[in-house]
Amino acid sequence: MSRLYLRCAICSRQQADGLISSAMWGKLELPPGVEVDHPALKGSAFRACPTCVQRHPNWAASLLESLGLSLPHDHRRAGTG
Ligand SMILES: [Zn+2]
Repeated sequence: MSRLYLRCAICSRQQADGLISSAMWGKLELPPGVEVDHPALKGSAFRACPTCVQRHPNWAASLLESLGLSLPHDHRRAGTG
């Protein structure tokens, strides 16, 4: 039986996947249609270890930026048209 591992997209640290670790690790789903070639990319999601998530609250945005991508922002104006 092969074990699953989470791999941090920032520091490349690996940890055995599990209920607790999986819940503590950050997750970044790539927007549909985006293709990225990255060793830490699993399916369409990046993971970041708890340490990196704590140190870099904006890790997802920074990571995307380093890849030349940016998260789609929902800037909806609920003002009067
Ligand atoms: Zn990390």
